[in-house]
Amino acid sequence: MVSAKAPGHVVVVGAGIIGLSTAWYLQEQGIKVTVVERGEVASGSSWGNAGWLTPALTLPLSEPSVLTYGVKAMLDPASPLYIPASTDPALLKFLLGFARNCTPGKWRAAMAIFAEIGRSGIDAFDEIAAGTPAMAEPTYPAEPFLTGFASLKDRDALVKEFHVIRETGGDVDFSLMDGAEIRELEPTLGSGVVAGIQIHKQRFIHPPAFMQALAAAVVARGATLATAFTVFDVRDTGAGVDVVGSEGRLIKADAVVLATGAWLGTLARKFGVKRVVQAGRGYSFTVVPDEMPTHPIYFPAQRVACTPLGDRFRVAGMMEFRDADAPLDPRRIKAIVDAASPMFTGINWEDRAEEWVGSRPCTTDGFPLVGATKSPRVHVAGGHGMWGIALGPLTGKMVAAGLTGNTPPATMHHFNPLR
Ligand SMILES: Cc1cc2nc3c(=O)[nH]c(=O)nc-3n(C[C@H](O)[C@H](O)[C@H](O)COP(=O)(O)OP(=O)(O)OC[C@H]3O[C@@H](n4cnc5c(N)ncnc54)[C@H](O)[C@@H]3O)c2cc1C
Repeated sequence: MVSAKAPGHVVVVGAGIIGLSTAWYLQEQGIKVTVVERGEVASGSSWGNAGWLTPALTLPLSEPSVLTYGVKAMLDPASPLYIPASTDPALLKFLLGFARNCTPGKWRAAMAIFAEIGRSGIDAFDEIAAGTPAMAEPTYPAEPFLTGFASLKDRDALVKEFHVIRETGGDVDFSLMDGAEIRELEPTLGSGVVAGIQIHKQRFIHPPAFMQALAAAVVARGATLATAFTVFDVRDTGAGVDVVGSEGRLIKADAVVLATGAWLGTLARKFGVKRVVQAGRGYSFTVVPDEMPTHPIYFPAQRVACTPLGDRFRVAGMMEFRDADAPLDPRRIKAIVDAASPMFTGINWEDRAEEWVGSRPCTTDGFPLVGATKSPRVHVAGGHGMWGIALGPLTGKMVAAGLTGNTPPATMHHFNPLR
């Protein structure tokens, strides 16, 4: 049902998880949607990620120990965190702002908000599934989701975080496993794994398949999807918006949602969005283990995330604070292989395919930017960092509520893009 305040036609810029989820929820309100994307569907971070919908792990990056870790990482080329020695003012502004948020107090406060959105994030996936009977790709239960450790000390660190989650209102249903128990569940794990944790009630998606299915659903519900359409400028005309694209193309609409991931700042800055959105680049590739794992597996100390994707096994990791458009650096792929290989058996690491780099859109306080800018016709949805997949549909729901004058989910006020 279209409310009196609702725009009739909205352009969504960016066909990642955030843009497509936003399109889906706008359609629920009866709004005509055009999605424009400079590449193909899921050209950005929404393709090669780990696909986890894991409220137990949907935590802010600003964990206080990340600071000491970051300093050490700058001196170690094999580290899962890469910060270039740089004088780029935007990167320095981001690092300084991020460091200010890495205090125990701010981290705990952020944990409470993440606990809330992590839970309702999964509900929004179910809403999309229920509202799209022909949706070609489901979410998968990760029963159980596994974490593996090379030492008990490493495992204690995650158990400590789980206790903080519970203290701050979150829910984690987990139990400890020894090396033999976790290998029994997942025989492809090697002798490097001496301990594990199994976590219940988590899910995952096959990111490329899910993104294609969501795009197809949005189009089947009446959206126009224009790929190979780079937006160069957005103008508020007073009565609507002009979305100015490549090859002289122009789309006139009542409102626009900028969902351009790590590139959010480029178009949003002139509408008062001052927060830096820094690319936290991650890498992934796929292999075919002798025995295909059936559970997603996380190695927190190595910061390696693995997900079974049908007939291939995706291995992902790294946080590289560099330009979103810089080319893939093969040294980062090697760092992931070096970190992951001691934890597995029966994988030919040379036989890799689908090597990929993508940019997590990171903000200094770890919260996304969701809602109206200085212009009531220009909304943004982005900056979800490590958790844009899990929070994608919930974000779409928030944006649609904000644009139509309906009551948005209560947590949305933390994500004010003008903060
Ligand atoms: C290795 C790795 C693992 C991850 N694992 C997980 C996980 O397990 N769970 C989770 O929740 N999250 C995970 N993430 C994070 C998640 O991938 C991102 O937070 C999420 O994909 C961001 O979605 P988005 O739609 O905002 O951005 P994107 O997917 O990057 O989409 C933005 C789109 O905008 C387009 N665009 C940009 N500028 C323009 C323009 N001017 N005109 C037109 N189009 C434009 C881009 O081409 C792109 O397609 C991971 C990320 C990485 C890198």
